Amino acid sequence: MLDIQKIRADFPILSEKVNGKPLIYFDNGATSQKPQVVIDAEAKYYQEINANIHRGVHTLSQLATDAYEISRVKLQHHINAKFSHEVLFTSGTTHGINLVANGFASILKSGDEILVSSLEHHSNIVPWQMLCEKTGAVLKVIPINEEGELIISEYESLLSEKTKIVTVNHISNALGVINPVKEMIAKAHAVGAAVLIDGAQAVPHLKPDVQDLDCDFYAFSGHKMCGPTGTGILFGKEEWLNKLPPYQGGGEMIKEVTFEKTTYADLPHKFEAGTPNIAGGIVLGTAVDYLNNIGFGNIQLQEKKLLEHATKRLLEIEGLRIYGNGKNKASVVSFNIDGIHPYDIGSIIDKLGIAVRTGHHCAQPIMNFFCIPGTIRASFSFYNTKEEIDEMVEAVKKAKNMLS
Ligand SMILES: *Cc1c(COP(=O)(O)O)cnc(C)c1O
Repeated sequence: MLDIQKIRADFPILSEKVNGKPLIYFDNGATSQKPQVVIDAEAKYYQEINANIHRGVHTLSQLATDAYEISRVKLQHHINAKFSHEVLFTSGTTHGINLVANGFASILKSGDEILVSSLEHHSNIVPWQMLCEKTGAVLKVIPINEEGELIISEYESLLSEKTKIVTVNHISNALGVINPVKEMIAKAHAVGAAVLIDGAQAVPHLKPDVQDLDCDFYAFSGHKMCGPTGTGILFGKEEWLNKLPPYQGGGEMIKEVTFEKTTYADLPHKFEAGTPNIAGGIVLGTAVDYLNNIGFGNIQLQEKKLLEHATKRLLEIEGLRIYGNGKNKASVVSFNIDGIHPYDIGSIIDKLGIAVRTGHHCAQPIMNFFCIPGTIRASFSFYNTKEEIDEMVEAVKKAKNMLS
């Protein structure tokens, strides 16, 4: 059992007031809060070892390089990648997906197919549309059912030898649905397609095992898992990373440069042009340690309790509908109340210190599917409590009475 009050004390922002009320933070799907150890590690880096990496022979440069590379190995173990050079530091999920989509421009031919799902975040749709424009490849979309689950039989019939890459999220940011990615990856491999998993919403809740999943790429952001903004990881299988061309050119990513010809550095540096977010990369390792110390088993137990409690309490409100009711769900509740715009409820409860997300959650196709402008999304973290959920339910009831 987690001592939630003790954990809450690790997060200084959770004792702040917003609009004069104690903060209730239910926008974890957009970004998580940061524990003091993460905040301290960032300051410590700048106070003690700040220097550019992989460049100088001087002591600080070596200390910074070591810390950065130790963090890479930590991340490698966290996701169970076979090699540390399969773990690329990025600025976030968006960067990782664009890196892969850009690389596929040299692989795809006109008429090849890319499969995305209806549940994707815009950052896992738009880069593939841009790739289609560049190559003449065709974007195909895996549909969902009324519960917000991917229809696997439709997925199977969309797969063919024309499919070159399937790209799907592990957990939907808008609905919290957990997709059967392992099964989907095996089916894609059976037709020779590569698979990218957008793990942005999964990594706060679970420890992905990229070898067990057998995905070709797995992208995620640090800031949704207690780490700093502007950090992220792209895992890629060695054979794929060797096959893809570099994404950006610059320092750090070369072996030799002349005006006649430049040769590229080995993995992972081939994909890491320029000075990276050194502090961020190191501190992402601190965040991963923090989560592993709490334990993902404990995190999941706590979040399951919060999800069940929130679902039960919210459904007491007449006219309230929850979107995404599959069996496999992360601690996200996306809902609307009949006849009331989600934005109006969000603004009223914000005055009471409650932070939720309202809108389309960067996933407009899902909103179009349900014929709604958006939803109110409450996304819970292990540091949230049932009491906070009860306060939100009372606040939503109050807002409903004011608006109807
Ligand atoms: C947040 C999110 C992204 C984008 O992450 P960035 O950190 O903004 O790059 C992509 N996909 C999903 C599912 C997300 O939740």
